[in-house]
Amino acid sequence: MLPSDAVALRDRVFAELSSRLPEDEFKAWFDPGKIHLTASGASACELHVRNVFMAEHYERNYRKTLEDVLASVAQGPVRLAIRVNGEAGRHPAEHVEARAEQLAETRNPDPPGPFAQPVSSTPRPGLVLNPNYTFENFVVGISNRLAHAAAMSVAQSPGAAYNPLFLHGSVGLGKTHLLQAICHEILKQNPRLNIVYQSCEEFVNDYIASVQQMQQLEAFRAKMRAVDILLIDDIHFLAGKEGSQEEFFHTFNTLHNASKQIILCSDSPPKDIPTLEDRLVTRFSWGLVARVDTPTFETRVAILKRKAEARGTPFPEDVYFFIAQNIESNIRELEGAVTKVAAYASLLARPIDLDVAREALRDALEVASAPVSIPDVQAVVCRKLGVKTAELQSKSRTKSISRARQIGIYLARTMTNASQTDIGNAFGGRDHSTVSYAIDTVKDQIGHDPSYRSFLEALADEIRKSKL
Ligand code: ADP
Ligand code: MG
Repeated sequence: MLPSDAVALRDRVFAELSSRLPEDEFKAWFDPGKIHLTASGASACELHVRNVFMAEHYERNYRKTLEDVLASVAQGPVRLAIRVNGEAGRHPAEHVEARAEQLAETRNPDPPGPFAQPVSSTPRPGLVLNPNYTFENFVVGISNRLAHAAAMSVAQSPGAAYNPLFLHGSVGLGKTHLLQAICHEILKQNPRLNIVYQSCEEFVNDYIASVQQMQQLEAFRAKMRAVDILLIDDIHFLAGKEGSQEEFFHTFNTLHNASKQIILCSDSPPKDIPTLEDRLVTRFSWGLVARVDTPTFETRVAILKRKAEARGTPFPEDVYFFIAQNIESNIRELEGAVTKVAAYASLLARPIDLDVAREALRDALEVASAPVSIPDVQAVVCRKLGVKTAELQSKSRTKSISRARQIGIYLARTMTNASQTDIGNAFGGRDHSTVSYAIDTVKDQIGHDPSYRSFLEALADEIRKSKL
């Protein structure tokens, strides 16, 4: 039997789903702020989503999983209905969906209002976008500024700015996010344009499926070549697929000749995609090739802040600092860290602080980097600040020594797994309150002095490097 209380139902279903789905996917599609579940009897349940796009998506991708999960919660089969809920008060990022919803509503004479609209037609079959991947939600920094600016200008004047636009960079740095942001923006400005956004794998699979039959191949070509905006994600998947490369070459030419916008992304620049035919390498470089780099420390902090605030659980500054210091190369992992820390704190009903963050991320961080020890921290602090280890441990209150000591204690706290007691001992047998005071003092200064923060970051980098 299903719990009749909506919160209990949601908690049980979501807990089960989170263990069955990859974390990113779960986060993207099972946000309690965006969808909700209600039991409509002991063995029937409704999933309310915001628009037809989403309804289609859940219908196609999650019906089976949801039914399985519901059955396990209810310990018996459950009927699931997926309904569109015409809710007010949307996030600006969801205007696109709102528009889709309006389109669907004008087509559908059913009276508007909550849950009245059955899931039938979709304005854009096949175009499934993550509603969070918008320009509004994209944090811009030095590492992605060019890619972001190019994506914006392409979205504003498709076919006119750069054609093709080719974004590349390693995994988890926001390429897919930017591609989908372009789609959202174009749809917002001109919902009539025929946009095709596909992973390269889908392109290849569609092509292979259609190759079997002349008629289907014609249809595939006609479809691809009638496109106004073509976005292919992870185009490096064309590597080693000669037939698909050949087909893509013709698609590309037709669209490019007709000034239709093409946007591609890949894990490497065109010339480094193995076995990519020269004529494609050349074409991919005709427009603008923009690289997305790993984010700088400041951008990582800004992203963490944005993600934590978007969840409604802002973290203290030093927690952002700690995570940004330890997770450097992948924005997806930064996001994962925010979720882990928030979930861990909420499960244990503890406030989010450095200890919680450290515990929540222990496993993730151990793999990420070799452990830093207190002597590692002390060695670099001494070298950079011109003091001796013995001075750090001494009773001296000379300004330069106390300052170095405070910094050492703070970095030991954020960079090692040592407890405050261990740290106190390693800094000349200082007690808990002295250690806390040092940490708070540094934290405080980081909060209002960006150059001090950069200085500490440089020290932290130095300490990490000393481990390589
Ligand atoms: P890629 O396609 O390059 O592997 P994604 O676009 O899938 O990376 O990004 C991974 C995750 O990080 C996504 O959830 C995305 O929203 C997030 N992300 C990436 N870059 C940014 C950014 N600049 N601002 C906010 N979120 C970002
Ligand atoms: Mg991607």
